[in-house]
Amino acid sequence: MAADLGPRAMFVAGGTDLFPKLKRRQFEIDILIGLDFLPRQIHNGSAEHTIDAGVTLSTAARNPHLNELFAGYAEAAGLVSSPPLRNAGTIGGNLCVDTRCNYYDMTYEWRKAAGFCLKKDGDICLVAPSSPRCWALSSSDTAPMAIALDGFVTLVGTTGEREFPVASLYRDDGIEYMAKQPHEVVTSLRLKAGADTRSAYVKLRRRGSIDFPVAGAAVALELDGDIVSRCRIVLSAVASYPLEAPAAEAFLKGKRLDPDAVREAAELAAKPAKPLDNADLSHFWRKRMVRVVVEQALAQATTNRGASVVKLSGR
Ligand SMILES: Cc1cc2nc3c(=O)[nH]c(=O)nc-3n(C[C@H](O)[C@H](O)[C@H](O)COP(=O)(O)OP(=O)(O)OC[C@H]3O[C@@H](n4cnc5c(N)ncnc54)[C@H](O)[C@@H]3O)c2cc1C
Ligand code: SF4
Repeated sequence: MAADLGPRAMFVAGGTDLFPKLKRRQFEIDILIGLDFLPRQIHNGSAEHTIDAGVTLSTAARNPHLNELFAGYAEAAGLVSSPPLRNAGTIGGNLCVDTRCNYYDMTYEWRKAAGFCLKKDGDICLVAPSSPRCWALSSSDTAPMAIALDGFVTLVGTTGEREFPVASLYRDDGIEYMAKQPHEVVTSLRLKAGADTRSAYVKLRRRGSIDFPVAGAAVALELDGDIVSRCRIVLSAVASYPLEAPAAEAFLKGKRLDPDAVREAAELAAKPAKPLDNADLSHFWRKRMVRVVVEQALAQATTNRGASVVKLSGR
């Protein structure tokens, strides 16, 4: 159906992102293709887990096996939006969720008054008018964590089924942010734990009860004793795709995670993050806070206590 209908149709899973956007006329389509018929199971192996795309965020957040082996993933799922939205929102929808921008996530009337922008109905970027591209932000909480954990997604489309690393699902473009074909459905996510995988997700947002991230850090570590043998750090909400921090990962490999190493790795991880003024709170401050969320996520991953929300005291 999706291949036949082309841009006239969109998939809908929980609808928690799509329905408000339809209301604001950010998408103008004739047909919704419901994905309710997809399986909704978490298949637990001893080290490998496959999560069907239709599993809700609250189910993933509560699953004891995910909490034990992939604490950061369960916590990222549990930090998306608010409890009612997590009861309807799915892990597949969270991987495919639209990029965000203060000039785009507005009512039709607001956008019309502002003159519209490249991402919908306009021809310039209102954040960076001299830029030929859109810089809307990847704001999924679970995508960076799935990448940090070396996750794989399975897609099904008219040409059959294929599986590839979650990182390959995204492009550095605020409009064409997904590398999949529009008619392809994400059907599952596969996560595999190593002998001593530890993970954590730290999310910064204005209101801990509902908001999207303004910066987030997903960290997955393998430790050999107290030495880091493998490390992946992926940032949310600072680029149009989940942004990896390879310099910090390379720096930490073979090191003991003492406070000095954590501090230096966090500095390195923050360097590639260049937030623009298109999300909540000041982009200068968000840039400074990237270092803080990475530092906290690294510290938290070592103790494997899951994730937390950085509170904005005084706001
Ligand atoms: C107030 C509010 C706060 C929010 N806060 C957050 C937040 O903090 N963090 C966050 O990550 N998200 C947040 N969201 C967005 C949303 O709730 C979540 O991203 C949710 O996981 C989306 O899942 P869904 O199943 O509802 O997707 P839908 O809304 O149904 O779909 C979202 C997009 O994904 C596509 N899609 C859905 N499933 C599939 C699939 N299996 N294969 C291919 N394409 C698919 C749809 O076509 C659509 O483009 C928030 C939304 C609201 C309204
Ligand atoms: S980054 Fe620019 S083009 Fe993209 S949504 Fe924002 S204003 Fe529009």
